[in-house]
Amino acid sequence: MLLRQLPAVHEVLQTETAQRLLQSLPRPLLTEAIRKALEKVRQKILQGDGAKVPTAEEVAAQAQGILWREVVPLMPRVINATGIIVHTGLGRSLLSQRAVQRIVEVATHPCALEVDEVTGERSFRDLRVEKLLCLLTGAEAATVVNNNAAAVLLILNTLAEGREVIVSRGELVEIGGSFRIPEILRKSGATLVEVGTTNKTRLSDYERAITERTALLLKVHQSNFRIIGFTEQVRLEELVALGRKHNLPVVEDLGSGALADVSRAGIEKEPLVQESVKAGADLVSFSGDKLLGGPQAGIVVGRKELIAQLRRNPLYRAFRCDKLTFAALEATLLSYFDEEAAWREIPTLQQISLSQTELKRRGRKVVRWLERLGMPKEAMSLRPSTSQVGGGALPDQFLPTWCIVITPREGDSAEALAQRLRVGNPSVFCRIQKDTLWFDLRTVLPEELRELTERIAAAWQGERVGM
Ligand SMILES: *Cc1c(COP(=O)(O)O)cnc(C)c1O
Repeated sequence: MLLRQLPAVHEVLQTETAQRLLQSLPRPLLTEAIRKALEKVRQKILQGDGAKVPTAEEVAAQAQGILWREVVPLMPRVINATGIIVHTGLGRSLLSQRAVQRIVEVATHPCALEVDEVTGERSFRDLRVEKLLCLLTGAEAATVVNNNAAAVLLILNTLAEGREVIVSRGELVEIGGSFRIPEILRKSGATLVEVGTTNKTRLSDYERAITERTALLLKVHQSNFRIIGFTEQVRLEELVALGRKHNLPVVEDLGSGALADVSRAGIEKEPLVQESVKAGADLVSFSGDKLLGGPQAGIVVGRKELIAQLRRNPLYRAFRCDKLTFAALEATLLSYFDEEAAWREIPTLQQISLSQTELKRRGRKVVRWLERLGMPKEAMSLRPSTSQVGGGALPDQFLPTWCIVITPREGDSAEALAQRLRVGNPSVFCRIQKDTLWFDLRTVLPEELRELTERIAAAWQGERVGM
């Protein structure tokens, strides 16, 4: 009986692979993975389709694959070759070195998070970044919560609970992950008053909808979609003038929001936070981890008395960020005081501004390495393509880029190859286009090029991870 020839758990634990894993992993976890691997082999043998008895080393290799997927499903590190710079599924913006150093510092030492070191008294945790945000945006005051969805909910609940909020129909957006403006509005306790049509909303539409129940006028940046053709939306300045006339606050959800003008990379401009402040918005909210290039956070800048009201809402306490976020945000904002430093230091901005010459140079290097690793020339090419900013910003703007294009081997498929790349270590995400895999070099870090090359070559040749 073949089953009796299967290696025992203790034999597998003696293999080189297992011994290496045990240097950083508790024994019971590896034992569990080996048991699962052996069970799978047993099932195969029992099905009788000619499965061979694996060696102890082969079982260990299978156990290693199972280990990371089924036993300790830790978040794998990923090489992002999708060309989407702010990729929500892959964790959005990467942090600058400055931000990482600050995180390490406050993570390993106490910090004056909520006390004033001068008076020794208790204070708010966002007062320090508030100063930085005010200097950078020209706003009177600022506050920071967990993410922009929380910021919008906090604003609406604080200023409009039990009253009405006027929004243009063309701005009733859904952002990925079930954040829909009408639903957030309902949850906040406010009532939505839609004005205008999908493609056209005029100032008079807003004005006619204003009643004594109106709490505020809300403008939402369209972010992830564009309406083109016969369209009209009211500019923020006009809405502000209307708000002033009726003594109503005007709130703008900027979505991504940017502090640096991305049009210098040759694409359309994403609205700048400082422009919304200048246009007179009473509150402006935006994300910390989209184009800003910082940690996940929801930032609100605007009028002092309104920010003070937000801080008094019990939801503010529920939505607060931890010290690591403040550390990273502080450091990220600091880069913006010298715009050139921001473009140099913040990975999201770095990737947006990478030149085609540089991308092509990196591409040539990868192609050479792939050849050296034994991949045939016919299976690969270096081709021009386009990258996207992502994060729900500038959906119709494309940055010219260079991609490594890989054709799977005879008998393999693009989907199977892409899956092998995703489940390996480090995991690799790319684009699939008509039976070929496209690896956009814009979103691959220079120090990842080597690993990417090795992963592509191994996966192409048919490596199996686990079973
Ligand atoms: C992305 C986005 C949000 C949600 O921001 P998070 O930081 O992901 O919570 C809200 N509104 C708009 C317009 C957005 O683009």
